[in-house]
Amino acid sequence: MSNQTIEPVMNTYGRFPITLVEGKGSYVWDDQGKKYLDYSSGIATCNLGHVPEVVEKAVQEQLSKLWHCSNLYHIPNQEKLAQVLTENSCGDQVFFCNSGAEANEAAIKIAKKYGHDVLEQDSPLIVTFKNSFHGRTMATLSATGQQKIQKGFTPLMPGFDYLPFNDKKALEQLKEKKPVAVLLELVQGEGGVIPADSEWVKQLESICKEQNILLMVDEIQTGMGRTGTLFCYQHYGIEPDVISLAKGLGSGFPIGAIIAKEHVAKVFSPGTHGSTFGGNPLVSTAGLATVKHLTESTVLEEANTIVEYIWGKLQQLVADKDQIKAIRGKGLLIGLEVDGNAIDYVNKARMDHQLLFIVAGTQIVRVLPPLTTTKAEVDHFIDIMNKLFN
Ligand code: PLP
Repeated sequence: MSNQTIEPVMNTYGRFPITLVEGKGSYVWDDQGKKYLDYSSGIATCNLGHVPEVVEKAVQEQLSKLWHCSNLYHIPNQEKLAQVLTENSCGDQVFFCNSGAEANEAAIKIAKKYGHDVLEQDSPLIVTFKNSFHGRTMATLSATGQQKIQKGFTPLMPGFDYLPFNDKKALEQLKEKKPVAVLLELVQGEGGVIPADSEWVKQLESICKEQNILLMVDEIQTGMGRTGTLFCYQHYGIEPDVISLAKGLGSGFPIGAIIAKEHVAKVFSPGTHGSTFGGNPLVSTAGLATVKHLTESTVLEEANTIVEYIWGKLQQLVADKDQIKAIRGKGLLIGLEVDGNAIDYVNKARMDHQLLFIVAGTQIVRVLPPLTTTKAEVDHFIDIMNKLFN
């Protein structure tokens, strides 16, 4: 036996050497009592900041009532959450699961079922886009248009094909490929914070309509107000057939979902898809409190004031600093293209300035403030950025 110690947790993450133990609003504290401005938001998840009161209160109440009962029984807050999501989107029915990858799994399954049942296809194809990211399960990594995510996990799942992103001419190929569905991110997040071009998206929608192809948007990172509207598709004036969600939906409680239009949703029937935990009483309560707050309070309106403010300040910074080459993104999903390795800036920001943000690829610093951040916090952030890129 070797006397080398083996870490009990598998080595799947490159972790930063700090331990976070508390959070409130835009701030987190580590186990040494050090306070950080958190502009990573648990990777675009804590959109209402850490431990938002409205969600905390609702969850506290639910905690003493019922946590879990399975989907063999009615779950009132799950039904209410579905109601709020459909009232505020172009979709009609919701399926709940536990994560982003599972939401995309549900989207992939519903599209295949639609292909078999409605279009009478034997082998339905789903087209996704190069440089996309849709998850780490076998189906979602097969859907992902990045070989580095797929490496070591072949054979991939069949039934996926990939087109270049933001390429109008390539869309013509959809007419020959005749997929049952396309799945895309409207801002490629993990792929480097790259927004889809509006005209390209409109053209995609019109080809989908003309060719009877389902338009499915992966709003796992862009949804729940992250880009300034509840869903990012609302910026583009399109109506997707399926929307996948997770991250910000539960403010940190693990809940994912797909919202689908009725003609698609109806291909699922009892026994075709399911989940033990999906939308259980506890996570649905967190989701309901989150989405009600996003849709009924002024939080999105206030976030849009911040969007304008932070973009103005960052654009000035890009103009002033040679080490920042460009800014891109939408709302509070912001990418800064830097000279050199993005991770070096992330490490320096954390160690020297107690500021947390993350990377997207090697050259993009990804800034994800909570929607609730204040102008004073943005000023503090910009002060740090001025020192970081001196
Ligand atoms: N899709 C997108 C666009 C994502 O950004 C992510 C996660 O980063 C996923 C899917 C996968 O979500 P999860 O990590 O919850 O499985």
